[in-house]
Amino acid sequence: MQAPAVSASSPLVTDTALAALGRVLPSGAIRTDADTREAHARDESEAAPILPDAVVRVGSTDELCRTMQVAHRHGVPVVARGAGTGRAGGAVPLRPGWVLAFDGWRDLEEIHVGDAVAVARPGLVLGELHRAVEAEGLFYPPDANSWASCTIGGNVATNAGGPRAFKYGVTGHYVLGLEVVTADGTRLNVGRRTKKGVTGYDLTSLLVGSEGTLALTTRVTLHLVPKPEAVRTMVVFLASEGAIADAVGVSLRERVVPRCVELLDAITLEVLREHRVIDVPTGARALLLVEIDGDEETVDRQLERLGSRWLESGALEVLVAKHGADRERLWNVRRQMSRLLRERAAHKLSEDVVVPRSRIGDLLARARVISERHRIRMPSYGHAGDGNLHVNFLWDDDEERARVGPAIDALLEAVVGMRGTLTGEHGLGALKRDHLPIEQAPALIELQRGLKAQLDPRGILNPDKVLPGRGHGAC
Ligand SMILES: Cc1cc2nc3c(=O)[nH]c(=O)nc-3n(C[C@H](O)[C@H](O)[C@H](O)COP(=O)(O)OP(=O)(O)OC[C@H]3O[C@@H](n4cnc5c(N)ncnc54)[C@H](O)[C@@H]3O)c2cc1C
Repeated sequence: MQAPAVSASSPLVTDTALAALGRVLPSGAIRTDADTREAHARDESEAAPILPDAVVRVGSTDELCRTMQVAHRHGVPVVARGAGTGRAGGAVPLRPGWVLAFDGWRDLEEIHVGDAVAVARPGLVLGELHRAVEAEGLFYPPDANSWASCTIGGNVATNAGGPRAFKYGVTGHYVLGLEVVTADGTRLNVGRRTKKGVTGYDLTSLLVGSEGTLALTTRVTLHLVPKPEAVRTMVVFLASEGAIADAVGVSLRERVVPRCVELLDAITLEVLREHRVIDVPTGARALLLVEIDGDEETVDRQLERLGSRWLESGALEVLVAKHGADRERLWNVRRQMSRLLRERAAHKLSEDVVVPRSRIGDLLARARVISERHRIRMPSYGHAGDGNLHVNFLWDDDEERARVGPAIDALLEAVVGMRGTLTGEHGLGALKRDHLPIEQAPALIELQRGLKAQLDPRGILNPDKVLPGRGHGAC
């Protein structure tokens, strides 16, 4: 594991500001010991770790308001952190300053069954929310694969998606309102508690996905839906990657919207074959993991119809799981993927590009060309239904690393050329912010700089994230 860099902080500013903070927070809220700082230096990305000057544990909105008043007055950069599972370096403190740790603030304040609303504090773990609302017969669909540890605050900040996004959408579709604290320590309530409402500008949408650069989330009001009665899972083996978009099309023509359509490409399928995770039929070059939900009768009918249509249109094999253990076995195939790929190289970087669904075969073909041209291993898997592909870059040494950057540039150019977008769920964070000008015009980036300056005039909220550094072709 890479040792964290120590940021070049000004001891004078830091000490004065920390002393001021110590006067307004309860004892124990501020930690400056080496172990705590080390534990808050990195996330789950390839971003180089950097030690914060201090870690501040916030446990109430009032405490956070006081913290931000001090940070604003002294110009101290702050970085919010949930569970640190981010893939874009968003929670890595690039400048000297404080990490605000939200992970201990996990209250689920309310589940209102009649209104189908849940209210949570930002440190609530996604999996805990799932369990609690499902016990009430309700359902919170967004299901980032990191659900066992990622937090609702982090999910809102990254507008997290997950396998179920194909049918149900992403985090932002379920956020009705937010309580936030601004850069100068002002508490605001944006949005509402009702499903409908168009009062004022839609600031909730602006803040969702803003990666902690515009405000800090302290309370989230979420819309829930009824829990589906039944779920069925299928694995479909295809003879070519080009057949993926057609297979998704078959399902939509049958008027079935699966809740997930996950894909593994030919290379990842080969890894599964080698590790005997599942019997892969001869000639298979792509795998789709499909899940449908609804009432018992309907899902069984849909299952049969879809299975037959896929076989008629050339699928090599369709496996069906109706019950818990069988479903787990099929999902295990998908879950093992990231781990097995990680074992094959010293480093793995996962892009999460999106193209229109019909172009997913073209994207895989283009990734293959880029992989050969730059001599980098690039296995892909992801959310086929949404056109959201995790293209992975594997490398072992510096010589290979030097070729990864140009390969990523080529991939992102290709994606935008297909009318796609740079990131579907991980965000731009620190790692992808300088690529933003590939997709967005200078005027649009400048407009966003203006919004940032309005909300955070001293530039202390998660600086150097999302928007590109000056001199990157933006302005
Ligand atoms: C194994 C694995 C699987 C994953 N699968 C998915 C997936 O399926 N879909 C998906 O979308 N992502 C996935 N991710 C990425 C990651 O889990 C998500 O981005 C998640 O939303 C991050 O949550 P977190 O609590 O870990 O946030 P962190 O990593 O701590 O922070 C992420 C960003 O949110 C900001 N932030 C955190 N809390 C707050 C707050 N209270 N107020 C303001 N800003 C805040 C941070 O500053 C940072 O910019 C995966 C990651 C891993 C390791």
